[in-house]
Amino acid sequence: MATRPSSTSTPRPKVAVVGCGHGELNLIYQTVESECHARRGWSLSDLDLLIICGDFQAYRNALDLNCASVPRRYRRLVDFHAYYSGERTAPVLTLVIGGNHEASNYFFELYHGGWLAPNIYYLGAAGVVRYGPWRIAGLSGIFKPGDYRRPHDERVPYDSHGVRSAYHVREYDVEKLLQVTGQVDLCLSHDWPMWVELFGDYTTLYKARPHFLDSAKAAGLGSLPALEVLGKLRPRYWFSGHMHVRFEAAVAHRDHQPIQDTIRGLPVSEPIRSKLPIFQRQTSSRGGDDVTGRTEFLALSKPGPDTSSYIELKELDLPAHSDEAQYLGRSTCGKFSLHYDEEWLAITRAFNESLRIADPETLVVPPERHKKKVPSASISRHRKWVRENVTRKDLLRIPENFERHAPVHDPALPGLGDQPPEYPNSQTARLAELLQMTNRFAIVKNETQESTGIDLVDFTLDE
Ligand SMILES: [Zn+2]
Repeated sequence: MATRPSSTSTPRPKVAVVGCGHGELNLIYQTVESECHARRGWSLSDLDLLIICGDFQAYRNALDLNCASVPRRYRRLVDFHAYYSGERTAPVLTLVIGGNHEASNYFFELYHGGWLAPNIYYLGAAGVVRYGPWRIAGLSGIFKPGDYRRPHDERVPYDSHGVRSAYHVREYDVEKLLQVTGQVDLCLSHDWPMWVELFGDYTTLYKARPHFLDSAKAAGLGSLPALEVLGKLRPRYWFSGHMHVRFEAAVAHRDHQPIQDTIRGLPVSEPIRSKLPIFQRQTSSRGGDDVTGRTEFLALSKPGPDTSSYIELKELDLPAHSDEAQYLGRSTCGKFSLHYDEEWLAITRAFNESLRIADPETLVVPPERHKKKVPSASISRHRKWVRENVTRKDLLRIPENFERHAPVHDPALPGLGDQPPEYPNSQTARLAELLQMTNRFAIVKNETQESTGIDLVDFTLDE
């Protein structure tokens, strides 16, 4: 039951951030609790959110392991299945994006985002949500240029290419994020925005990890689309994982200047400058002297003995967007409830018909319907619809409507070698109903075709 917003002044949100999860939920919750106490004198209940920046590994059962790009010798169910089955409950509201080692099938079923388990919310392939007066955006997956412009054409059972491309970032999802206007407070990506290290102590980083410099020299370290999103949304904070190292940078955004040009203007040392492709091109814009915003970038590592490298505890220094009372509903524990973001719902609705996914039976992807990008006028039209049909009806609060569709883990079933069928997710269906849009993830099945598991040849993975 949600309570109505109160007008009392809003304290700063306390968050715990973890780089990669690698499925180690028990260890993470336990360590976050002890670190809260040791570093800050906080208890776990003081935390507003725990944020995990990918490689979350939401394996519901052993079959889900076969939909992840993890070499067979490293496949372990780890902890999530117990949170899915209800044996354990996440002790703090946990926000998650996807990385490159995931149950890609489960994330696909929750493409628009949703509860992976009670109190554990996935932001979707891309997504924006509200936590009280603050706005949080996320981009799942990692950037691989060759798959960027492809449709979402992977359906289970994945073949040896699909099991990897399933988590590669798609232009379609990035394009949605680039439509977001107004203040975004916090943004999450698994791989780092490309070149972000140049805003921090890149010399020490490149020295400690020479292969980072090799990647930077070849094509840039990290994600080009994440860089674009960083340059456009200019959030106050940006958190990432993936590189398994702790790294900080302070990004100063300049007035009317594309972020690539801002990077070219950084006082990067000549030996490095001469090696990196971004400096081979001239700055294309003039001006940009005034700093108009700053992003505090923080990358964190994976669970391990050095807790300070993978867990950050922060009181976020964020302004409250005070005019937006529709997001301030609280749960019974007194914390803010997660809410949909009105503009993001409008963008999702505006883009829905141009989402290209493979037919689950034939694997055929429909041809592109819109050559041109979704115009902003269309988004404002959808925004008006969302305001009237969702916001004004008090339906922005994300319902706690987690449901189990896949079976819970059964230790008696080995599961090796099989991929599960796709389980159309009721949360995905509810969101489509809320927005009165076609559920592109619905599977209309002939009742005689029910399948329980599909044999699949083993494949070797190298990522
Ligand atoms: Zn990782």
